[in-house]
Amino acid sequence: MIRVENLHKHFGGFHAVDGATLDIAPGSITGLIGPNGAGKTTLFNVIAGVLKPTSGRVLMEGEDISGLPPHALFHRGLLRTFQIAHEFHSMTVRENLMMVPPRQAGEDLWNAWFHRGRVAEEDRQIHARADEVLEFLTIDHIADEKAGQISGGQKKLLELGRTMMTDARIVFLDEVGAGVNRTLLNTIADAILRLNRERGYTFVVIEHDMDFIGRICGPVICMAEGKVLAQGTLEDIKANEQVIEAYLGT
Ligand code: ADP
Repeated sequence: MIRVENLHKHFGGFHAVDGATLDIAPGSITGLIGPNGAGKTTLFNVIAGVLKPTSGRVLMEGEDISGLPPHALFHRGLLRTFQIAHEFHSMTVRENLMMVPPRQAGEDLWNAWFHRGRVAEEDRQIHARADEVLEFLTIDHIADEKAGQISGGQKKLLELGRTMMTDARIVFLDEVGAGVNRTLLNTIADAILRLNRERGYTFVVIEHDMDFIGRICGPVICMAEGKVLAQGTLEDIKANEQVIEAYLGT
């Protein structure tokens, strides 16, 4: 579904991504691991259009998407989750979800004035979709709480929920497990697995928690110093000498 070919991202003279080549299979949940500073987040940001590559290509289903801006990728169903921005903390969980759908007719003055019925209908549909997402993620009980007041794990579920408000096809998740308690981590893992199996989402997941990776991921890719060191099952990766060395070196 995604092919990254000899990708480089340099910051001045520093090569954060240094010739990475990898494939993401459609329908997979791929884990991206590696020591701190390996270039994982930079790779995500280049694929998701947040950063422009220095050189190399990113293909989606054979088509070159290198350097396309996030909104163009969004329309193709490629999304990267972000922490809920500070300015959205005072909005409720449901309102945060309802913000997401693109091309809301209500944003358009012409529509607001001449097609009030249509705006109301769209609003009702978005509301219904938000309710469905809240229920799917089992966070319906906090729908009316302010996003700034929910726990770290609930925020991660909300980030995931925002991708469900659109018709996402491939989602890049950055450290979903960081600072999240076990119960919520299980809820997050279940949600990812169900989205994968029931709705066909492909996932790429950066995560340090190997239990979490082992539970949800099929293929695992290990990066170090901007390069892909190894790919395979988690067992293969754990037994790989270069991988062990890379982790010991940090
Ligand atoms: P990881 O996610 O694997 O921990 P990152 O992609 O965050 O790694 O970072 C890789 C390296 O690139 C780090 O050494 C980091 O300091 C550096 N880096 C990341 N972003 C920038 C930037 N905007 N400017 C300069 N250096 C950066």
